[in-house]
Amino acid sequence: MSGSLVGVHTLVLNADYRPLSYFPLSICSWQEAIKALLLDRVNVVSEYDHTVHSPSVSLKIPSVVSLKRFVTSFREIPALNRGTLFLRDYYTCQYCGDEFSAKQLTFDHVMPRASGGETHWKNIVAACFDCNVEKGDKLPGKGFPAPIRAPYIPTNRELQRISRELAKGRFHESWEDYLTL
Ligand SMILES: [Zn+2]
Repeated sequence: MSGSLVGVHTLVLNADYRPLSYFPLSICSWQEAIKALLLDRVNVVSEYDHTVHSPSVSLKIPSVVSLKRFVTSFREIPALNRGTLFLRDYYTCQYCGDEFSAKQLTFDHVMPRASGGETHWKNIVAACFDCNVEKGDKLPGKGFPAPIRAPYIPTNRELQRISRELAKGRFHESWEDYLTL
């Protein structure tokens, strides 16, 4: 690494060396990582080449840290947001079956909100813009196909597995070992 440290992040692992969360991936700014290190809250697992200096200390910027105390943060039902929904549906429109980036996907209410459909795991699927617009407020199965896979509540473990699959090859090399099996 050379030059600017803007946007440099540190991967944060739990005390068991698994990422604290996968969705979104638990990262912090390098400044927060250094602060946690000086407060003795984390161990350094891996470092970038770059060193930062203060009047009293010089430190290599950690690329991966692990918490000294184990944190349990998983609720039983995963939070429903764009990140977790698109993970469950593999970034695939549940109407045309094509893959899209997050920016190209929408939150689709299978039973339209206008007809009382709730914002709940079992009533939401990922849909591309075109399918979403075409579907509009049509009732499920009435003039528009039902989703390829009926919406369901995923488990945290399942979302972790999918995000690990999708994360491969996309991050700093020092992170990879903690994201793959
Ligand atoms: Zn589509």
